[in-house]
Amino acid sequence: MNITPKTDRARQPGTRDASKFTEATRVPLWDPEVDDILVCRQVRQETHDVKTFVFSAREPRAFRFYPGQFMTFELPVEGMVSRCYTISGSAARPYRIEITVKRVPGGPASNWLHDYMIPGKEVTVSGPAGEFTTDATADKKLLFISAGSGITPLMSMTRTACDLSEPTDLHFIHAARTPADLIFHDELSLLISQNPTLKVALTCQASSPSHAWSGFTGRLSLPMLHLMSPDFMDRQIFCCGPGPFMDSVRAMLAEANFDMSNYYEESFDFGAETAGSFDEPADAAPEISDQTFRVSFPKTGHVVECSPGMTILSAARAAGLLPISSCQRGICGTCKSRLISGEVDMQHGGGIRQREIDQGKILICCSTPTSDIEVEI
Ligand SMILES: Cc1cc2nc3c(=O)[nH]c(=O)nc-3n(C[C@H](O)[C@H](O)[C@H](O)COP(=O)(O)OP(=O)(O)OC[C@H]3O[C@@H](n4cnc5c(N)ncnc54)[C@H](O)[C@@H]3O)c2cc1C
Repeated sequence: MNITPKTDRARQPGTRDASKFTEATRVPLWDPEVDDILVCRQVRQETHDVKTFVFSAREPRAFRFYPGQFMTFELPVEGMVSRCYTISGSAARPYRIEITVKRVPGGPASNWLHDYMIPGKEVTVSGPAGEFTTDATADKKLLFISAGSGITPLMSMTRTACDLSEPTDLHFIHAARTPADLIFHDELSLLISQNPTLKVALTCQASSPSHAWSGFTGRLSLPMLHLMSPDFMDRQIFCCGPGPFMDSVRAMLAEANFDMSNYYEESFDFGAETAGSFDEPADAAPEISDQTFRVSFPKTGHVVECSPGMTILSAARAAGLLPISSCQRGICGTCKSRLISGEVDMQHGGGIRQREIDQGKILICCSTPTSDIEVEI
């Protein structure tokens, strides 16, 4: 009798080889300490000025991230700039990183991505990082409020909850300038049709000739909020959008006497408070010496006295310099700079790798001098 061994049969042409599925579970994890190159695999036009970029690692890697977290991208424009972009995709799809980027007029990074990032191109990244995230568990009632490109972290949380089939009671309010600016409009409609516990309400400030609109019109207001999410007072609220938008959301919640310990926000604006509960206490301050140190910036010739406890970022700003920074908590890595000489106390939150520290890099937002120093910014 001629018996074909099972293993051989599995390899015959035309026979389904299940090994590729079992191998998928053995894909190594993306290690943020070591891995730093993403390859662009796909670009999607979402609206007239918003694109989604889909990346994966050079070799298959599984990314572990919480929905709402971001990665920091180093882009070869104006020398090299670093910018944070929220992962807009689902955390339940671990083999890809999607970011959704709005083209900001005159902005170097967003325009470079829109104009030059194409499938096959590689980019250096760090992360994932960030604290603006939720465990969308069944026992919580959630309300997401976003405007413009601030939709990205909330979309990641929504996609993840839907992918995991969590019966999350979720209301999602999104504000756009016009119907033509609504990001993920079609996908949100699809998600509503598939997930009975998801309710989406959209408002547009103005109409656009190219898109019919019969939904809410005007800026988000307290009466509109009552209509869109009648039980919002019982919900945990996550908000992301431009600074003035979040100011107005906070003001309307204050007017409604909302318990702000249930309010979380993230800003994409530089210099704004980011990531975390509204009334979350600041991280513990590093131990402060009472000595003053001299901070020199040789590139510009500026020299400032750094008072006790002052970060190098604050010293640079006091000198009239405007180094680019974002989270101001040592998380995002945007303010990474080279320490030319001297010593610092750096209390970072994961925004820099050990090998970068070994190369003399520091995050100036969370470093205080412990000697006179020279910094390249
Ligand atoms: C944690 C975090 C997550 C972010 N996630 C996203 C994201 O998912 N999608 C995204 O498009 N951007 C996101 N950003 C903003 C992004 O990092 C860049 O700031 C943005 O792409 C502009 O960079 P730029 O170099 O083109 O312009 P810049 O020269 O840096 O900015 C030009 C001006 O535009 C303002 N601006 C910055 N971002 C925006 C924006 N999105 N919409 C309108 N005005 C803006 C800036 O405050 C500045 O005044 C995020 C920022 C942070 C801190």
